Amino acid sequence: MTPRDKDCIFCKIVAGAIPCAKVFETEHCLAFLDIAPVHPGHVLVMPKGHYATLMDIPAELGADLTATLSRVGKAVMEATAADGLNLMQNNFEAAGQVVHHAHFHLIPRHAGDGLTLWPQSGYESSDEMSGLAKIIAGLLK
Ligand code: 5GP
Ligand code: ZN
Repeated sequence: MTPRDKDCIFCKIVAGAIPCAKVFETEHCLAFLDIAPVHPGHVLVMPKGHYATLMDIPAELGADLTATLSRVGKAVMEATAADGLNLMQNNFEAAGQVVHHAHFHLIPRHAGDGLTLWPQSGYESSDEMSGLAKIIAGLLK
């Protein structure tokens, strides 16, 4: 059964209780315009089921989600005559997640649009970098 959260604004959109500017849907995914776009044509793609973060989305939805992101992304670029496209995804409040129903932002970008991406830093040493890689890899065994 598809999980729902009665207090979730995106579940209400899936149920049709709150309107949205829908652009595409599949059995498991819905794509609609963000109400406060970074640029016009900014689309949100999400699983119809209520999963709080990326890490909660069942792996079996992966093919549907990636195919939807790719297909919608192409249409967004064409519709907005974009030069580029950002795929953004926020998990938990510390990372900027406001709506706790996992979703992906497709943001059309135009050459010279003035938006900057987040700053990059570095590692203190190559040991710090390889140590962290080992810890993450160990958790994935
Ligand atoms: P987050 O920060 O959680 O990754 O992004 C949430 C996004 O949902 C924001 O960009 C916000 O503009 C959008 N949003 C919030 N409420 C609604 C709504 O009711 N309808 C639509 N279409 N977008 C919404
Ligand atoms: Zn939800």
